Amino acid sequence: LSERLGSVFDRLTKQGALTDDDVATALREVRVAFLEADVSLAVARDFVAKVQAKASGQQVTKSVTPGQQVVKIVHDELIKVLAGEGEADALKIDNPPATILMVGLQGSGKTTTTAKLAKRLKERMGKRVLIASLDTNRPAAMEQLAILATQVGVDSLPIVKGQTAVQIAKRAKTQAAMGGYDVVFLDTAGRLHIDQVLMDEIQAVRDIAEPRETLLVVDGLTGQDAVNVATEFDGKVGISGVVLTRMDGDGRGGAALSMRAVTGKPIRFVGLGEKMDALETFEAERVAGRILGMGDIVALVEKAQETFEAEAAERMAKRFAKGLFNMNDLRSQLEQMLKMGGMQGLMGMMPGMGKMAKQAESAGFDDTMLRRQIALISSMTKKERANPALLAASRKKRIAKGAGLEVQELNRLLKQHKQMADMMKKMGKGGGMKQAIKQMI
Ligand code: GDP
Ligand code: MG
Repeated sequence: LSERLGSVFDRLTKQGALTDDDVATALREVRVAFLEADVSLAVARDFVAKVQAKASGQQVTKSVTPGQQVVKIVHDELIKVLAGEGEADALKIDNPPATILMVGLQGSGKTTTTAKLAKRLKERMGKRVLIASLDTNRPAAMEQLAILATQVGVDSLPIVKGQTAVQIAKRAKTQAAMGGYDVVFLDTAGRLHIDQVLMDEIQAVRDIAEPRETLLVVDGLTGQDAVNVATEFDGKVGISGVVLTRMDGDGRGGAALSMRAVTGKPIRFVGLGEKMDALETFEAERVAGRILGMGDIVALVEKAQETFEAEAAERMAKRFAKGLFNMNDLRSQLEQMLKMGGMQGLMGMMPGMGKMAKQAESAGFDDTMLRRQIALISSMTKKERANPALLAASRKKRIAKGAGLEVQELNRLLKQHKQMADMMKKMGKGGGMKQAIKQMI
């Protein structure tokens, strides 16, 4: 695949903005990569279409090809989709006893994951955990869970032969409440394929158990079937998250994207082996890299972007040292601020600045304002940007109108620029930073 990509990208070496053609050509290869990673066809198609709309017109970083740039855009978008809004947090286990229902197809790793999670909650959070097997289909299943419970040092619900899943669920809840447990796991039976009997049973259990979390356990090596599994379980039972098992295997984990795209539910954990501590919280970046399988290209583009930014910063530092600060410099600064999450983002990163960020917001100093100011500067000619003193009143009006804003806003921007330019001049000529700070106080 890398070879094929290489040749495609060689043909695409030029600078500037990404054209529709660049994007389409590169995305064709990305789609192949997705399918090879077992992302479901519909999800791959959908994802690629979204990126297509986003990527066209974006700038290509110096020293990378358009194709490589598209791969980086895909990679970033993939991380965004996989990570969601940061809801993949800890399991909801307040208000003890909290019930966690484990569902999924047979052999997906429900029983193993139940024991792994129980171990994790016990060891990392000091929780008292009870685990119960509701698998009445396979005689050995209940013993399997009891053995694992002993192994990880948590209690399991005593086995009573002849009870239905619903009866066991009721007994587990009672036992959890009476025994003072923090968490009770219900490990349900699976089938090789989804069927009505299975769904009816899980629904009945769910209604009795009132789980705080319903985790769908999915084999990470599952390919196209992942979407059906996700749709069925989420539609019929309602899930709160996904655990992907067998991510220690050779599979590229495309099921992760399918799951996320179809259910919109967060992937909570990944299973990385048969051992009881082979469980980790989900990391979007790692899984994204694996699905796309183009880590080299992503690293290359990131390096190029860093170099480019470092060069730009150095150029600017040199200009500032000479006391130079024109409208282009201001625009770069504003763009940099936007990229770092705007005013709020910048201040939020600094301790104790939360209040100031709020004040700035109420004073109307936000991303919208940054964007407007950038638009204003972009409406100027090259000459005007180099020397804003050239701007006559009529030009000012035209520029403001071009950006869809009032001329007062432009005046404010010019004043702001003048203040900064004056400061730069003082720093440049009058002996640098120390001198400038002295003059400010
Ligand atoms: P269940 O039918 O859904 O309860 O599945 P089990 O928990 O019994 O797991 C079926 C098999 O998969 C067992 O042999 C497990 O050891 C194995 N297994 C579960 N999770 C993982 C994992 O993350 N990696 C690997 N390699 N094997 C796993
Ligand atoms: Mg099982």
